[in-house]
Amino acid sequence: MTDTLIKAISKSGTIRAFAAITTNTVNSAYEIQKPATLSGIILGNTLTAALLCGATLKGSGERISLTYKGNGVIGKAMAEATANGKVRGYAANPQSEFCEDVDVKTQINEAIGKNSQLTVCKDLGLKQPYSGTINCVTGDIGSDVAYYFTQSEQIPSAVAVSTIPNNDNSGVEISGGYLVQKIAQNEKINANETTELEKISLATSAFSLNSTLLEKKNPEDLLKNIFSDVEYEVLDSVNLSFECACDKENLLNALNLFDDETKKEIKRTDDKIQIICEFCKKIYYILPQEVR
Ligand SMILES: [Zn+2]
Repeated sequence: MTDTLIKAISKSGTIRAFAAITTNTVNSAYEIQKPATLSGIILGNTLTAALLCGATLKGSGERISLTYKGNGVIGKAMAEATANGKVRGYAANPQSEFCEDVDVKTQINEAIGKNSQLTVCKDLGLKQPYSGTINCVTGDIGSDVAYYFTQSEQIPSAVAVSTIPNNDNSGVEISGGYLVQKIAQNEKINANETTELEKISLATSAFSLNSTLLEKKNPEDLLKNIFSDVEYEVLDSVNLSFECACDKENLLNALNLFDDETKKEIKRTDDKIQIICEFCKKIYYILPQEVR
């Protein structure tokens, strides 16, 4: 079954919500990267969060990336998503396992590390990509992405993501999440709409994403839980998949960004250089003379 993300808006036009089930997409990443349990959860959560952020983009060629950097056992995780539901990502240390004596939620929140930073980069097809960085407050990927939207883009947001690995950690049982945003300006909101906001805020804090994912397993049910008794309409549905758009030309362009000394070093080697794409593990061979 194909993963989908569903976009919806409250009838008043004040609040939009995206809900996604990302199980197959995350499983594709597991097949390629074979992460240990803790790394897999962080990878799954980062991929889901990037897909939800990707849904906020307008043009089909636009992309958004989330990069977490910190001093925890995983240290860095990143994912890049397109507006039309393609995503790729990785966790820098794929072999991080849970430590038996520490609470699981604490380990997930500390996997990237305390004092971590989240950088969101948007490629909107303009000359320069837009980029913003925040200091993470919780280590919980959903809350940090919500904090980014609220702080950097002044869009009050709530985000929750979850990845539940299967018993032998060969993949995930289910993964998914949601993003809710207030899209109208304060001065344009009337009393009824304020009540809508309160209702949705209460509804999202009342239901457990994990239990809902395990019970219902579809984005429509997530939306019903989010909007509760607030009227809404579904706008669009996007198919999701793990896809890496790497190619040799892009790799050579990336190598071109290295400093001159490093490039000279590469050119001096006699043999071809092996480079492995960290997203899809595809192997590329570069000849020294191909470095520009
Ligand atoms: Zn690749």
